[in-house]
Amino acid sequence: VEDPRLQGISAAIRVVPHFPKPGIMFNDITTLLLRPKVFKDTVDILVERYRGMGISIVAGIEARGFIFGPPVALALGAKFVPLRKPKKLPGQVISENYVLEYGTDCLEMHVGAVQPGEHALIIDDLVATGGTLCAAIRLLERAGAEVDECACIIGLPKFKGRCKLNGKPVYILVECR
Ligand code: AMP
Repeated sequence: VEDPRLQGISAAIRVVPHFPKPGIMFNDITTLLLRPKVFKDTVDILVERYRGMGISIVAGIEARGFIFGPPVALALGAKFVPLRKPKKLPGQVISENYVLEYGTDCLEMHVGAVQPGEHALIIDDLVATGGTLCAAIRLLERAGAEVDECACIIGLPKFKGRCKLNGKPVYILVECR
């Protein structure tokens, strides 16, 4: 049976057609954030799933992984590691490029944020092609961390169930509308 909280989460996400470009159905989580009970349900579901698993790193992807990652990290007693767009982090970084529909992008992580052997959870708001999560997985693995799972609030239907990226399981709460 499905968690009854998921219905409320799905209903609280606003779908904006043709943003930021024609043809894109933008799944907007800012409307979910306006509803404290639904925002809390979202964080609680993730905390319930990952509590007691020995995760010491929650890595959040800029920018909306910075909204859901920190409350989960605090509840798990884990560190929060921001994975940022290029040239934002002031210290020494490692970088991973990834391919977008048009062009490429890049994620960076501070050297020293992660110790070899640590167990990590990666969080973003939405998984579409999985390219962004794959770059994040590569960053954590290059630093010697074990990525236990990636978690997104929203995913394309193909990610519901037992989908993997770079051999790592992806957990999604609700499907894109
Ligand atoms: P991808 O790398 O293709 O899996 O794209 C995932 C990233 O792009 C995430 O950081 C999302 O925030 C963003 N994204 C992609 N498609 C959408 C969409 N339809 N609505 C909102 N965000 C999206």
